Amino acid sequence: MEFSYRFYTNHDCKYLPCHKTDDVENFNCLFCYCPLYMLEEKCGGNFEIKDGVKDCTNCMIPHKPRGYDYINQKLGEYIAEMTIKRLENDL
Ligand code: SF4
Repeated sequence: MEFSYRFYTNHDCKYLPCHKTDDVENFNCLFCYCPLYMLEEKCGGNFEIKDGVKDCTNCMIPHKPRGYDYINQKLGEYIAEMTIKRLENDL
């Protein structure tokens, strides 16, 4: 598949789709667990805080066909922010 590095659907997964959707053919399984979870409220996703725990049940960002692009952009921004902070602290 031409873009398998950024999108694939695991039709063998018994949990597919693991989030509610009417469009299983465009369900992206690339990020089964969202790498942006660590960003807490800065991830930009549709999360809720339940009993102090971040709940991503209603977020489809990692499972959209363009989820790879969104997540890579956010991770790049986070790395740049952390690098700047580290450099400022080292001065
Ligand atoms: S799944 Fe959505 S709400 Fe949860 S961390 Fe990822 S982007 Fe944020």
